[in-house]
Amino acid sequence: MSDLRELYQQVILDHYRSPRNCGALDDATSHADGHNPLCGDRVRVQLRVSAGTIEAARFEGAGCAISTASASLMTEAVKGKTVAEARAIFASFRSLLMGGEPAEPPASLGKLEVLGGVREFPVRVKCATLAWHTLEAALGASGDGASASAPDTTANSAPVTTE
Ligand code: ZN
Repeated sequence: MSDLRELYQQVILDHYRSPRNCGALDDATSHADGHNPLCGDRVRVQLRVSAGTIEAARFEGAGCAISTASASLMTEAVKGKTVAEARAIFASFRSLLMGGEPAEPPASLGKLEVLGGVREFPVRVKCATLAWHTLEAALGASGDGASASAPDTTANSAPVTTE
């Protein structure tokens, strides 16, 4: 079990040091900003959603190792997924970290499971879920993406705060 734990920590550190999909996204269809005041983490999530599918997801921001690694892992997890699939993954991820009802049917978490150990540290759970709450806000800004709305209506400027 401790080997597994070490492996998980290595994955988290790897994503912290070399975040995937980090930086501005050209032709984003929606975005949202998130802030975790408990830790000082800030993240902006940018999405390109077309016909209900998340074609691209990128993030920018500054935060602790957990929030950065979680944002990096999230962008990998949701890219190419439908909006509904991404929400199901978030529901499963949230239940991994916070207990409660898993998504029905439960979505496969894949690499996101490396963040499961965070549930032992309730303050850190907000770091790990920040990017996901921000993703949800960005998805809300883009509707379900089923109808092609004007690509430059990126207005969801209300910052997300994880309280
Ligand atoms: Zn943090």
